[in-house]
Amino acid sequence: RFDKDFGQHILKNPGISDAIVEKAYLKPTDVVVEVGPGTGNITVRALEKAKKVIAIELDPRMGAEVTKRVQGTPLAKKLEVILGDVIKMPEMPSCDALISNTPYQISSPLIFKMLSMPNPPRIAVLMFQREFAKRLVARPGDALYSRLSVNVNFWATCKHIMKVGKQNFKPPPKVESDVVRIEPLLGSARPNVAFEEFDGLLRIAFNRKNKTLRAAFSVKEVLAMCERNYKVYCTLNNIPIDESIATDDATAADDVDVEMDVDDDNDAKPDDEDAAAMDEDDDDDMPTFFKEVKDADVAREAAKTPSRNPKSRVALVVKGKVNKVLGSTDLAEKRARQCDQNDFLKLLLAFHEEGIHFS
Ligand code: SAM
Repeated sequence: RFDKDFGQHILKNPGISDAIVEKAYLKPTDVVVEVGPGTGNITVRALEKAKKVIAIELDPRMGAEVTKRVQGTPLAKKLEVILGDVIKMPEMPSCDALISNTPYQISSPLIFKMLSMPNPPRIAVLMFQREFAKRLVARPGDALYSRLSVNVNFWATCKHIMKVGKQNFKPPPKVESDVVRIEPLLGSARPNVAFEEFDGLLRIAFNRKNKTLRAAFSVKEVLAMCERNYKVYCTLNNIPIDESIATDDATAADDVDVEMDVDDDNDAKPDDEDAAAMDEDDDDDMPTFFKEVKDADVAREAAKTPSRNPKSRVALVVKGKVNKVLGSTDLAEKRARQCDQNDFLKLLLAFHEEGIHFS
């Protein structure tokens, strides 16, 4: 019996298992990580081609199945089974290749986990639900373009390999699947920025991907985070921080400015559609902070009166820096859905120049 909660849809067509392993171009010296070996259909083929397969399996029953399948054969000594949740592992074992008929619940966290590895594998061949696979290869302007699309295409190259119909699985899933090949950029080809920084910026920009970046960076909690991180930067670089309250006109002017930023958004899409788009987006791993941002934003829209909270001078400095960066990069009026990876990189580097960080 297969457990749907574990995303157990076993491949019953050996041709597909063969093709997944084939497309990973395994070498006899390769260490392979397979996520979710199940009964071992893909595992045995990978074991025939590689030096070693580390199979990470959440369900102990399946762990026992795959072990039993190779018991007494020469393949047994090349197999290591780790029982557990791959996403909860502090680090994925280092490997040359990653393969998986991916349990659909962990599609997004698995990709993020792989891309953020300091030494990612040379190649990953992964099967996903079709909608998810489409998000991986989406381009700016496409409806499915998301934070996930930008990250994958920034840190790796991604190619669609083949379509797999639902009749190839037992039990058949509700939707069709696709196999993709992801080749992370390695060594000097890997962008020289911290994963968490680039992703931190994308989280803000894609929090509402149909809003202008100016609006995205006017959200109170986003500015508060920029301020917190800027203070850390100042402390590390011996830059004095002025926390005194600004009582001059700048405070009121700044508040009105923020209000206008939020209102100045003539999206074609209403906000609830935005939110729906986000829900199917890659925010299944979104921290509470961003959920709060959405609530705060809605509350602000509802109040419709300029807030006149006193602000510290450092808060005004940060707001000024944010405006300066958005202006100098010429991206203030662009929306995340239209920006390509170079726009985001340009933006990140300009923020760093001003001492503003996102992780
Ligand atoms: N590889 C097999 C095949 O293709 O026939 C099974 C694939 S099945 C879609 C997904 C497998 O991943 C199941 O065996 C399931 O128990 C396992 N799994 C689910 N969540 C997991 C997790 N978080 N970490 C590791 N394995 C997981």
